[in-house]
Amino acid sequence: MKFPPHQGSIASLTPTICHLLGVKAPGISEEPALDMVISTLEQKNIPLQKCLVIAQDALGAHLWGSHESDLGKILPLVPLRVPLRAAFPPVTPVCFASIFTGVQPDVHGIHSYTKPVLECDTLFDALVRADKRVAIVSVENSSIDMIFRNRDIAYFSEENDEAVCERTLEVIRGDEYDVIIAYQADYDDNLHQSEPFSPICIQALRRHIRDFIKMAEAANQHWKDRGHVVAFTPDHGAHVNPSTGKGDHGLDIPEDMDLFHCYGIYARNKLRSAGSNLDSVD
Ligand SMILES: [Zn+2]
Repeated sequence: MKFPPHQGSIASLTPTICHLLGVKAPGISEEPALDMVISTLEQKNIPLQKCLVIAQDALGAHLWGSHESDLGKILPLVPLRVPLRAAFPPVTPVCFASIFTGVQPDVHGIHSYTKPVLECDTLFDALVRADKRVAIVSVENSSIDMIFRNRDIAYFSEENDEAVCERTLEVIRGDEYDVIIAYQADYDDNLHQSEPFSPICIQALRRHIRDFIKMAEAANQHWKDRGHVVAFTPDHGAHVNPSTGKGDHGLDIPEDMDLFHCYGIYARNKLRSAGSNLDSVD
């Protein structure tokens, strides 16, 4: 598969979600919102009320090239597939810091595989100021679990990906939160032990896709009367390091930098007119 021209940076997630939820973006946010996503909504449908962001580590464009028939299973739920560039260097804390602040590393300050608590303004601070209730469900001690601490939001630190999926389903059904972030790590963990297309990696990829569908369908079911957005937002891709023969990432090469974020927008009026059949705006 030939990767289409980039439509921006992964940092576009923050202004895009803020636009959709009618929330003022973090003060430092400098990326534009994604036109391809926000232009699908008429002004009268904004703001949406709820948001589920599913961040699965290292599911870059390299996998769409080799396993589009697997990854394509998420597209009925999140049909707006936007080609983007990772932040540089493409390692997890650098990229998620960009995704959830709307800025590049020179502004948020994480330039390598370190996990300091971010002191700059983030999507989560912007959501709290707008009285949104936020939950981050992540694998314990992962970047997402660590770098966004000290905000007035709920942190669910889980033992593994399976527990993240279960907890996210519970959090969706509990209806206490407006914005839910779910993070899973298995594919990335496995690629460093083997290589990006190894059987254990592809098994992990398929578990991610299965869990994505479960979580997104639960959100659609639970929020069927409320305008909402569901997003697929990996952080970076991966390549084989020729000196070790194992999977790796962190270079300015298409395998590491190219990825897709995919959005599904469920506008309220469309939901009502569609009755019990959920219909995404595409
Ligand atoms: Zn990562």
